[in-house]
Amino acid sequence: AAKASGPHRYLVFTPALRTVLEDRWQIASRLREAAANGEFAVRWQPVVDLRSGEVTGAEALLRWNHPQRGLIPPEEFIPVAEENGLIVPITRWLLQVTTAQATAWAREGLDLAIAVNISAVHLASGTLVDDVLGAVGDNGLRTTGLTVELTETSIARDPEQAVEQFSVLRKHGIRVAIDDFGSGYSSLSAVASLPVDVLKVDRALVAGAPPKRLAAPEAILRAVSALGSALGLQVLAEGVETVEQVDRARRVGCAFAQGYQLSRPLAAEHLSGLLEDSRRRTGRQLLPPPSAP
Ligand code: C2E
Ligand code: MG
Ligand code: MG
Ligand code: MG
Repeated sequence: AAKASGPHRYLVFTPALRTVLEDRWQIASRLREAAANGEFAVRWQPVVDLRSGEVTGAEALLRWNHPQRGLIPPEEFIPVAEENGLIVPITRWLLQVTTAQATAWAREGLDLAIAVNISAVHLASGTLVDDVLGAVGDNGLRTTGLTVELTETSIARDPEQAVEQFSVLRKHGIRVAIDDFGSGYSSLSAVASLPVDVLKVDRALVAGAPPKRLAAPEAILRAVSALGSALGLQVLAEGVETVEQVDRARRVGCAFAQGYQLSRPLAAEHLSGLLEDSRRRTGRQLLPPPSAP
C-alpha cells in the first residue's frame, strides 16, 4: 500500500490500492441510484433500560443492499457519501422513514424513542435543524421521541456550530446524544460545555478490550459514567457483548445499554413482533432472553 518512510515520502500504486480507489469510485457513482432504487434499508438496535430491563427505544442503523455485492456496511459507504455531499439527502430520507416508523409503532401501542445518526457534514451544511424538524412535523412524531446522535469526533470539528444547532434542536424538544464517547480526544471541559442529553460510551471503554486493553476497565467506566451523571446526562453503555459487561454497566451506574448481548440490530417488523409478543405475555416491552451461543 502507501509507503511513507525516510525523507522521501512516496505512494506506491499497488493493485490493492487501485482496487480500494476503484471501489470508492464505484460506490460513489452508484450511491445516487441506490437511493432512487430503494436499496437502502434500516435496522433497529434496541436500547434497554438497565434498571427495568425494558426496551425503551431503538437506534436506526443504515444498510445498503447492493444488488450485486449484497449488504454493504455503513463504514464503507458513509465516508463516500460524506465526500460528495450525498449524506445530506440520504439522511433526509432516513429521517422521514424513521419518524414515520416511530409514529406507526406508537399507533400499535409501542412506545419507542428513536435515535438517528447524523454526520458532521450535515451539521456543517446548515440544513440539519430544518431537516430534523421537518421530518418530525411531517410524520406527527412528538419531538421528544427523537434523539440525534453525533460522534465526539464530528462535534470536535466545529464545536461552536454544534452548540448553536444543538441548542435550537433542544429548544424544540429533540434530544441530542454524544456518540462513541471515549474513542476520540475530547477534553472533559469540552463535554461539560455541550448542550446535550445523552452520553453514549464507546464500546472500547465498555468492553475494556482490544484494540487497547484497558488496565482498570471497571474503574474507567465508573469514572465516565459518574462524569455523565454529574453533568445531568443519561449514560448509555454501547456494544455490550457479554453478561459480565451488562452487569458491569449496571453496577457502575449506566442507565441504558445496547449491544449484541441484548440484541443485534433487527428489521422493524422483527423488533415490533418481539416486543408485542412479550407485551402480551408480561405486559412489558422486554426482549426474549438471549439464546445460548
Ligand atoms: P454507531 O452509531 O456507534 O452504531 C453502533 C454500531 O455498533 C453499529 O454498527 C452496531 O451494529 C454495532 N454494534 C452494536 N452492538 C454491538 C456489539 O455488541 N458488538 C459490536 N462489535 N458491535 C456492535 P453499524 O450498524 O455497522 O454502524 C457503524 C457506524 O456507522 C455507526 O456507529 C455510525 O457511526 C455509522 N452509521 C450507521 N448508520 C448511520 C447513518 O444513518 N448515518 C450516519 N451518518 N452514520 C451511520
Ligand atoms: Mg450511533
Ligand atoms: Mg456509537
Ligand atoms: Mg460508531
